[in-house]
Amino acid sequence: MAKFIFVTGGVVSSIGKGIATASLGRMLRNRGYTVAPVKLDPYINVDAGTMNPYQHGEVFVTEDGAETDLDLGHYERFMDVNCTGGSSVTTGKVYQSVIAAERRGDYLGATVQVIPHVTNEIKRRITSIAREQEADIVIAEIGGTVGDIESLPFLEAIRQMRGEFGIENTLYVHVTLIPSVGPWGEVKTKPTQHSVIKLREIGISPDLLICRTDVELTQDVREKISLFCGVPPQAVMQSMTLPTIYEVPVVYEEYGLGDYVSKRLGLEDHPAKEEQLNKWRELVEIIKNPRHEVNIAVVGKYTGNGDAYKSISEALIHAGITNHCRVKVQWIESDELEKGRPIEDFLSGVDGLIVAPGFGARGVEGKIEAIRHVRENGTPFLGICFGLQMAVIEYARNVCGLSGANSEEVETNAAYPVIHLLPDQKEVQDKGASMRLGSYPCNLTVGSLAASIYAESRITERHRHRYEVNNDFRGMLEKAGMVISGVSPDYRLVEMIELPKHPYFIATQAHPEFKSRPNRPHPLFEGLVRAAVRKCEGVSLA
Ligand code: GLN
Repeated sequence: MAKFIFVTGGVVSSIGKGIATASLGRMLRNRGYTVAPVKLDPYINVDAGTMNPYQHGEVFVTEDGAETDLDLGHYERFMDVNCTGGSSVTTGKVYQSVIAAERRGDYLGATVQVIPHVTNEIKRRITSIAREQEADIVIAEIGGTVGDIESLPFLEAIRQMRGEFGIENTLYVHVTLIPSVGPWGEVKTKPTQHSVIKLREIGISPDLLICRTDVELTQDVREKISLFCGVPPQAVMQSMTLPTIYEVPVVYEEYGLGDYVSKRLGLEDHPAKEEQLNKWRELVEIIKNPRHEVNIAVVGKYTGNGDAYKSISEALIHAGITNHCRVKVQWIESDELEKGRPIEDFLSGVDGLIVAPGFGARGVEGKIEAIRHVRENGTPFLGICFGLQMAVIEYARNVCGLSGANSEEVETNAAYPVIHLLPDQKEVQDKGASMRLGSYPCNLTVGSLAASIYAESRITERHRHRYEVNNDFRGMLEKAGMVISGVSPDYRLVEMIELPKHPYFIATQAHPEFKSRPNRPHPLFEGLVRAAVRKCEGVSLA
């Protein structure tokens, strides 16, 4: 039978509950356990796919094609596991199931209520993840902050689970903020006390507090929190902001948190724990003290929200580890490139460029202009999804001479629709979960850059898009020097393109950023950073 760890948040949002959850998972993975993370999101959207990245951050896509909350990205990266659609539970999904069951008549005439019907559905989803992934431990993070109206059914469901599974199989973790105020930076425990009171009103007494703080908590403060909140002093974990999020599991472990959780849940210690932890320490050491440094520009449309391209920024950090390199990211809002300033003003000090995924017409010309600049100047380039589509348009316009080339997404009646909607997408009416989503295979062309950096001929990558390269223009692009280096196994879809005369110019219709892990950086990002280091240090790129 699986054990359950529930993570709630208190005081304010955005205090790193996702990283805390992911770090707990890492510590348990280091002990050899199978861990299944699950995010319980109280919003009514069925999934994150229809949410604006500005408001909500990146939409993370799982192997099985679910569009989920970005916290699942943290879980995958820290725990090195693959989440599934079932790892993301929203109020929307829960109500969809309950209402469908009511319509089928499954409730046999009962009045359908939050307790027990909605809470039962939440519990069913949490426990089925345990079964589906044969997990030793399920870690369920509840989105939002304790005290929100929306999260009450989720909190009630996890409260009930202690009764069903027993105290030795359930653990409540509460992540809170300890602010320091006033001229002397006095540490204040009151918001945490109140948050715990709020949790107790619901019937949950936390077993462990993770206290986010900017200053060291003295023994006195920890004892005070312990007394007021009813947790043992060793279960008051101080969690300070660190130079890199990847250090969090190391610091937690050194604090004794892993051993506390293991003991509390009756888990055995694993002989490989130290070795696993040391491997992680090595990654952290490189992130903190790398030998090289490069500047990579990322052109996108939502660069005002640091979370909108979370997996890309993390993939760059991972690629920095194997290249022993700090990757400084220069975010460029694509429509800034359209305001008349020369492109050199933005890209002259840059060692590499990523054109990010995106939707819609805004900022498209800026992206195309940036690609022209790096293509002509030999600056390493990686195009991701929309970035591939923009690279094809740029090539069609500036190399093949089709000045009216565009994507149908941007210009419905483009003179040369080099990027177009596939017939099966033309019928689609609903916006939710209707794109080409999830993992698809791709064959790489022998002798291509793609085949050499992946060191494989058949790969799989995750997708999230509606539009594709128009096959009518494939021959023309190839004749003009563009290599189509990745295609779907039936040859119908262009998956990757590259320019052999360029030091590193490659683009993919997929989202490689979702598969990058700190211990297994993604080859496309690794290749970009490697090429950027060589350019930055003046090594011939030929
Ligand atoms: N908007 C493009 C499409 O739907 C690209 C999507 C993306 O970059 N994820 O095909």
